[in-house]
Formats: sequence, C-alpha cells, structure tokens
Amino acid sequence: MAITYLKSGKSESERSEDDTKVRTIVADILRDIETRGDAAVRELSVKFDNYAPPSFRLSASEIEALMNKVSARDMEDIKFAQAQVRNFAQAQRDSMLDIEVETLPGVILGHRNIPVQSVGCYIPGGKFPMVASAHMSVATASVAGVPRIAAATPAFKGEPNPAVIAAMHLGGAHEIYVLGGVQAIGALALGTETIKPVHMLVGPGNAFVAEAKRQLYGRVGIDLFAGPTETMVIADETVDAELCATDLLGQAEHGYNSPAVLVTNSRKLADATLSEIDRLLAILPTADTASRSWSDYGEIIVCDSYEEMLDVANDIASEHVQVMTDRDDWFLANMHSYGALFLGPKTNVANGDKVIGTNHTLPTKKAGRYTGGLWVGKYLKTHSYQKVLTDEAAARIGEYCSRLCILEGFVGHAEQANVRVRRYGGRNVAY
Ligand code: NAD
Repeated sequence: MAITYLKSGKSESERSEDDTKVRTIVADILRDIETRGDAAVRELSVKFDNYAPPSFRLSASEIEALMNKVSARDMEDIKFAQAQVRNFAQAQRDSMLDIEVETLPGVILGHRNIPVQSVGCYIPGGKFPMVASAHMSVATASVAGVPRIAAATPAFKGEPNPAVIAAMHLGGAHEIYVLGGVQAIGALALGTETIKPVHMLVGPGNAFVAEAKRQLYGRVGIDLFAGPTETMVIADETVDAELCATDLLGQAEHGYNSPAVLVTNSRKLADATLSEIDRLLAILPTADTASRSWSDYGEIIVCDSYEEMLDVANDIASEHVQVMTDRDDWFLANMHSYGALFLGPKTNVANGDKVIGTNHTLPTKKAGRYTGGLWVGKYLKTHSYQKVLTDEAAARIGEYCSRLCILEGFVGHAEQANVRVRRYGGRNVAY
C-alpha cells in the first residue's frame, strides 16, 4: 500500500490516555450512585448541569406545558422526521418473522421475537438539544412494542428543552427524566429510591455516557457503543472540495473529539479540501468546536487506488461514511465495517442524522466491526422453543441424545432422554 497522511490527528497513545481518564471518572460516579442513590444523582446533576428540580421526572402537566412552547412549524418538522423513522423501523420490524419449522418428522423448532420489557433511552443534550435522538431511540422502542420506555435527557442551558421533550413524548416515552450524563445512565441501570431500574440502556452520548453504558453492560443490556460522532468521506475527482470539506466539518462540530477523515485517491482533491476547510472554519459559527476537533482528530489520507481506499475505510470502521465516487455501488457491495453509508453527492450525513428515517445511533470506536447501528431488532430478543409431537420422534431423537450425553459423561442428562426413550417405544441406551 502507498498511503500518504496529508494530515494526521492525535496518536493512538494520546487517544488511549483520554479513554483511561474517562474510564476512571465514570467508574467513580457509578460507584457513588450505587452507594448513595438519589442523593448522589442530585449532587451530580448540580455539579455537571447546574440543575436540581424537586423531581427529575416530568409530570404530565409539565410535559404538556413544555409541548405548548414548541412552535407549530417546529412541531410539524418533528412529526415529519419521527414519521420517517417510524416507517422505516416498522418495515424492519415486519421483516423480523417469528418462525416455526418441522426439522425432522414430529420435531418442531421455532423462535419468537419478544420485546425487552423495559428500556432506558438516553437523549444527548449537553452541547446541542438533540431532538432527533428521541426519534431514534424512543420511537423505535415504541415500534418494537417495549412496554416500559423510560427516557432521559439533560437540562439544556439550565432547563428542559421543549422540542426534545416533545419528541420524547410523541415518540412514546412512558417516563421522562430531565437528567444527563453518567448520573442518568447510572440511575436508569442501577435504580435509585425514585427511579426503577431498566433492563437495557440505549442511545448515543458523549464519551462519559458511552463509557458508562460500556461499564454497566452485563448488569443491563446495551444497544451498542455509540460515543462521540465520527465521520469519513470517501471521494474521488467526481466530487469537489467544497462538498468534502462541508461534510467533514458538518460532523466535526459535534464535540472536541469527533474524528473526521477524508479518504481519497486524488492528491489534488486532498489539497483543495485542506484549503477549503480553512476557508469554512473562518466563517462557520460552530468553528470553535469544529476547528479543535479537526486539529486533534482530523485526517486526510491519500491512497493509490480504490482498493486501497476500501481497505483503509474498512479498517477505520467509521460511524458515518459518505461515499462520493464514480463507483459508489462497488463501495456499498464491499464495505463491511462501518455505522451507516451515505451514497452519492445528493445525500449527506445530516439527512440520516435528522430526518430521512434510518437510525442515527451508530457504532463508534471501531464497534462497526461487530455491530451495526440501533434498529428495531435491538429491542427484540429472539427466543427459541421446541416441541416433540410424536412417540416416534421422542424415541428417535432421544436415542441420539442419550448416546451423545454419555459421550460427554453427562449421565443425568442421558437419563433425562432415556426415560422418554423407554416410555415412547425406543431402545434404552445403557451407560
Ligand atoms: P450528552 O448528553 O451526551 O452529555 C452531557 C452530559 O455529560 C452532562 O449532562 C454531564 O453530566 C456529562 N458531563 C460533561 N462533562 C463531564 C465531566 N467532565 N465528567 C463527567 N460527566 C460530564 O451531550 P454532549 O456532551 O453534547 O454530547 C453528545 C454526544 O453524543 C456528542 O459527542 C455526539 O457526537 C454524540 N452522538 C453520537 C451519536 C452516535 O450514534 N454515535 C449520535 C448522536 C450524538
């Protein structure tokens, strides 16, 4: 491979130092919540969000009052976006069939897709009120049929954000908490005197939120590791530098640690994109964040061929991958590790983030190697069952079973099968 790094960000070891600091902070906070419950949650909310209402859970009348603050235009847009997310989630739900098949005469095997019984949906809101995240986790949980949806979002600038609360409510949240960060994640997973614990945590968040979910995995389920946003643009000379630079900075504005990477086979496009980024950073209102992200985590990688671009992209396994080349479908067919693909210059990551209907909660930090993003299937547990309907089937499968149990030394297991072999007309298998 002849890959050139025209621009690099922080080294692997610097990135892993950042991760270690976050891990320690999160472990301490979770321990505190587990020991002191509501008192710890309240102190943490004051410390990080300067917010301490009489109750973190909104009442029905508080929700109604906040909904009334949302303009008709905003409400219509929220409903439009939520409908797109619901429609795609419903189509995906419809594709997940319960099955029952006869694999041998008289032997019936099947599975049922059963919703997780309670979920805690986290809607990020520290830097921006992320209305869209409510559609992604709450509305999708509702399509899955989750009977208890508890949703939490931090106070934004010291108070609940009406548009976020409206999206949570319209999405189908049964409980809404104005609580952020590790304290929300910890309270929902571990439970406190006033918050009943959930079975699974879902939704994106900053490095602290994502790490809290990771540390709680096992005690509760989690959807996936969905931390600070990452974006990659794969481009050749069929596209111009303005689109590439806009797409990189459009995601780098999320936070100070959002990687944005251009992978191209054109040195000319790479150079032009670098200059275009400088031009845009001078005028972008969110340049304060985006420029720090770009400086620490931005990369421009120049490859010799499309094959090299593909290998680099699969290796990085970025959360969002915008592809703008003369062979977009080839990338679609051959990319195997990523969060979501955005194909062609007419679409873009913001479409997916906000409105088009695919889920924007996506794997980061290379989690795309082993999982896709949040979708309705993440809320469903696929449970198998079996039935043996005839004497012949009980005797036949039982004889195989007894012999295989004895092969492993499991005499008790063997007898479980043998008692049925004898009862239903088969040949007893001696130990
Ligand atoms: P957030 O709601 O995730 O986090 C805010 C909370 O962080 C605060 O309530 C506070 O409690 C906590 N916090 C802040 N500083 C802390 C510290 N020093 N120690 C402990 N806790 C601290 O909101 P945000 O910060 O705006 O971040 C949103 C994140 O979500 C961004 O990084 C964005 O990229 C990411 N995101 C990811 C995806 C995905 O699918 N991967 C999707 C959307 C958003």
